[in-house]
Amino acid sequence: MDLDYPQIERGDGVWLTTADGRRILDACSGGAMVACLGYGTPEVVEAAVAQAERISYFYNHHFTSEPQERLADRLLEIVAPEMARVRFVSEGSEANETALQLARLYHVEQGRTDRWRVISPAQAYHGSTMGALALSGRRSLHEPYAPYLADHLHIPPSTWRFDPTGEAALEELDRRLEEAGPGSVAAFVCEPISAAALPAYSPPDHFWQGLDERRREHGFLICFDEVVTGMGRVGTWLAAHQLPIEPDIVAIGKGLGAGYAPLGAVLCRQEIYDAIDRGSREFDLGHTWDGAPLSTAIGNAVLDVLVERRLVQHVHDRGPGLRDGLAKVLEDLAIVREVRGRGFLLGVELVDPRDGVSFLPTELDVASIVDDTAFAHELLVTSSHPQADGFAGDQVLLAPAYVSSDEELTEMVERLRDTLVDVQRAVEEALA
Ligand code: PMP
Repeated sequence: MDLDYPQIERGDGVWLTTADGRRILDACSGGAMVACLGYGTPEVVEAAVAQAERISYFYNHHFTSEPQERLADRLLEIVAPEMARVRFVSEGSEANETALQLARLYHVEQGRTDRWRVISPAQAYHGSTMGALALSGRRSLHEPYAPYLADHLHIPPSTWRFDPTGEAALEELDRRLEEAGPGSVAAFVCEPISAAALPAYSPPDHFWQGLDERRREHGFLICFDEVVTGMGRVGTWLAAHQLPIEPDIVAIGKGLGAGYAPLGAVLCRQEIYDAIDRGSREFDLGHTWDGAPLSTAIGNAVLDVLVERRLVQHVHDRGPGLRDGLAKVLEDLAIVREVRGRGFLLGVELVDPRDGVSFLPTELDVASIVDDTAFAHELLVTSSHPQADGFAGDQVLLAPAYVSSDEELTEMVERLRDTLVDVQRAVEEALA
């Protein structure tokens, strides 16, 4: 409540202008990995105006619309040909709620009413609504809402700190399955490549292969939360396309509306749809703005720009160089333990510079120091400080818009180095 927010006035490309006239370089696509096309994309604005003049809103229960149908078809054609059906929502949390309901319904329709539980990696973020909040296993987020949250089961992340091979996570998964009774588990839910909770982290292939085997053996579904990674953020349309496993249900969000409309979607494989088709033929619960003509018209315009400018390929090609460039300029900083990167999703893991391993003392709240220092360097990044959960220390997340020029990317890297040099100095003084 004490934060003193500057006021935003406008955006052009990857540059923000505040009401007091400062120009900030946005290395985080609107702060929340959303504005993948940058600000002021004329094609998207024009498409929004044209649709609003025609009809902007109607409730999905009464009518469908050409933009909604077209966007669904194109997501299945371009983004996720392995999926069969799409349902639109407005936000990432809603997408995960819907994915969870769909997973549950898939089992119920086939008489497996005992299957409700979810197993998921603890160090994750899936949204702030109660269903989605319960999907991560983070004490710091659950309090004080714990009484409302379903009792799901969690496993630790396979990071260098806990489980570099992925074997410990598989052993934990087996223990959780045994504890719950495999017949009570509806789904395994995870971010295939993590966003703010552990930027750009993904478990080793060994884990994914083991997870796939257990799905076949025990009959639960795999739901990927691709709210951040979907729509090209990691250099492929979905993060799933980089992993040796196929999900049954995928939630997407952020980049789909690209900051021009609140828009998310849930995609599922044919088998999931068929279970409902052969059963109750009802998947009723929804939200007022699901699939509205205005937001889906914007989704189509965003997809047009992504395709026409070959931006996903660009992220794929440019991402490794961006990560390596960042790692190189941060190499001599004792406070930096690891630089991770997948496409245009990058994470910098910070540690105590005195031993290069421990979390930074939590009372320093170094994540806030990073964000404030970056802002002083007219750079916008998003840092997190999830020490209380026990799985990760302070981390910095970068998620540039796909349209960032090479010069702008270089400038982001340089400003982040300047920021972290200042932060390291401040931390060393505080620790002296
Ligand atoms: N999943 C992930 C991986 C996210 O990063 C977020 C948002 N930060 C969400 C879900 C929730 O999305 P929303 O805030 O749009 O509800």
